[in-house]
Parts: sequence; C-alpha cells; structure tokens
Amino acid sequence: MTAQAGQPVRLFKKVAVIGAGLIGSSLLRVVKERGVATSASAYDASDAVRNRLRELAICDTVSDTAREAVEGADLVVLAVPVGACGTVAAIIGKHLRAGAIVTDVGSVKGSVAADVAPYIPENAAFVPGHPIAGAERSGPDAGRGDLFANRWWILTPLDTSPLDAVDKLGRFVEAIGAELEIMDTEHHDMVLAITSHIPHLIAYNIVGTAADLESVTKSEVIKFSAGGFRDFTRIAASDPTMWRDVFLNNREAVLEMLTRFSEDLTGLRKAIRLGDGEMLHKLFSRTRKIRREIIESGQEVAAPDFGRDQGAASGDAKAEG
Ligand code: NAP
Repeated sequence: MTAQAGQPVRLFKKVAVIGAGLIGSSLLRVVKERGVATSASAYDASDAVRNRLRELAICDTVSDTAREAVEGADLVVLAVPVGACGTVAAIIGKHLRAGAIVTDVGSVKGSVAADVAPYIPENAAFVPGHPIAGAERSGPDAGRGDLFANRWWILTPLDTSPLDAVDKLGRFVEAIGAELEIMDTEHHDMVLAITSHIPHLIAYNIVGTAADLESVTKSEVIKFSAGGFRDFTRIAASDPTMWRDVFLNNREAVLEMLTRFSEDLTGLRKAIRLGDGEMLHKLFSRTRKIRREIIESGQEVAAPDFGRDQGAASGDAKAEG
C-alpha cells in the first residue's frame, strides 16, 4: 500500500534518525509530511547540524546524544557514513526498546551488516537498507521531502531479520513514496559497484587527471568544461567522507568490477589504435539503447543537457550513492 501525502499511514510511534545530513534530514521531512510516525527524533554528531535541525523544525526532538534519541523509538534509522554505522550501533544497542526495528541507509550493505548486527539485541530487529536516491550535496539544508519519491529503496534482510520486521519496514518504504526492492547484501554490493561506485571512481579520477595535466591550464579545463567534463565534475563533487567509506567498505566488489572495466577499456584502446570504427560504432549504439531503456523505466528524464535547464531537482536525482 502506497500512502499519498494527506492520507497518513501511521506505522510507527517514534522514528529516531541518527545522522541528519542529506539522507537523514530528507527522511525526517518526508516522515513529517506524510505522517507515517507519531513523533520523530534526531541526533547528529555535529553541533552545527543539531542547531540547524532545531531551526528547520523538521522533527519533534533534537537530542544531544544518540542514546537519548533512540529511547522508546520503534524505528531507528542510521543515516551516518558507512564507516560510522558500527560505532553508532555500539552506542545505541543497549538502549533500544524491545521490538524496535533498526535499519540503515548506507551505500554498502555487507560491511554495514557485519558491523551493526553484533550490537542489536535479540529482542530487536535489524534490516539493512539503501535508498537509491541522493545528490552531490551534504547536510540538512540539502535534504528534500521528495528525495525518495518513486526511487528504489533496497532492503537486504539478513538470516536473522524477522519477517514481520522486513514486512513493516517495506510498508514504511512505500508509505514515504519509494519503491521497494529486496535482495541479499552480496548481490546489492555487486550491483551498486557497477551502477554507482565505479562511475563515481571514474569521475573522481578523470577530474583529478584533468586538474593535474601540465599541458592544459586549469582555466582551460574550467572554460571548456561543457564537452562532457562538466557532468563528471558534478559527480566528483560528492561528499569525500561518504565516498571514502564506500570504497573502503565495498573493496572486493569494486575491485572485481574495476578489473572488468579495465579489460573493456583495453579493448576500446585497441579499437582506436587499429582504427576499428565498426567496433566503436557497435558499442556506442548499444550504450545509447541502454540510456533509452533507463528513461523508459522512469529513472531519468529525457531532457537535453541532463535536464540542467529544468533546475536542481532533476539534476540531483542522478547523483546517488
Ligand atoms: P551527510 O549529508 O554528510 O550526513 C551525514 C551526517 O552524519 C553528518 O551530519 C555527520 O556529521 C553525521 N555523523 C557522522 N558520524 C556520526 C556519528 N557517529 N553519529 C552521529 N552522526 C554522525 O551524508 P549523507 O549523504 O546523508 O549520507 C548518509 C548515509 O547515506 C551514508 O551512509 C551514505 O552512504 C548513504 N547514502 C547517501 C546517498 C547520497 O547520495 N548522498 C545516497 C544513498 C545513501 P559530520 O558532518 O560532523 O561528520
């Protein structure tokens, strides 16, 4: 059942969000807008973020400790960088109420599952998750109540995740307007390595290479950036802490995909060296078809220039962890 704004489906009494940056604050906004919980509390390690949250008034309580935020919560969402999930779980584990459901939004699932699960008591449930929605901006001001609308939200239940908790969390995902998908942690990490992590690595690399080129000046790189480079710079502006953690925590899947990528790149290099236009044309036609399929599936807009002229909202939807 998918809830529409104005028809609240109150699934939880108290939702606690730990980490109120882009993703956490977006979640707080949509929980409030759609009335899916009676109350919402938040904690963030940053004093500045906690103060800003109080000004934004997007939740009922801003707590000064994670422990206080999760007290009495029947849903706890960890929205901190992947590398911090285990640390937070170690702090809150003992203070969870019986029957609480704990989830996270981390871009890597295997390592988060391994880091968090040991701290979740037997009378609570842990169901890892990952919304496939985001932007290159960070912090509570970057959040939006519609960030997850019609975007995939993947849950990766563990053998220890109770079925009723998976079901309730799935209903929560749909109630905030996202589309539910369920897969195992290993498969998630492989899929995201190629669809998200490698593209980010390529963007970081190409922007770094351009910045280091001695024969091309920095002002030329900026001046002539429209030739494809500009779109890489948008991705390469993504949060350094978040992406450092992604690569350190999804090492195996990223390395495997990177090997495949390098082999294919060597094939392209050879085609260019041998003047094999047919090979290049065949590949470029196949990739063009894939983009058409992504647009037809509703995951992208067909606007020219990546919808840049349509404002930030459509552009943001494509930079996601
Ligand atoms: P963000 O905007 O930087 O927000 C993260 C917040 O968590 C920051 O305010 C940070 O404070 C705080 N934090 C860090 N360690 C903490 C701790 N131990 N306890 C409490 N708060 C802590 O990052 P985000 O983009 O929302 O990403 C959050 C999570 O969502 C990450 O796991 C990421 O992989 C995942 N995700 C991101 C995207 C995306 O596109 N951005 C998409 C899907 C999923 P400081 O700044 O002071 O460290």
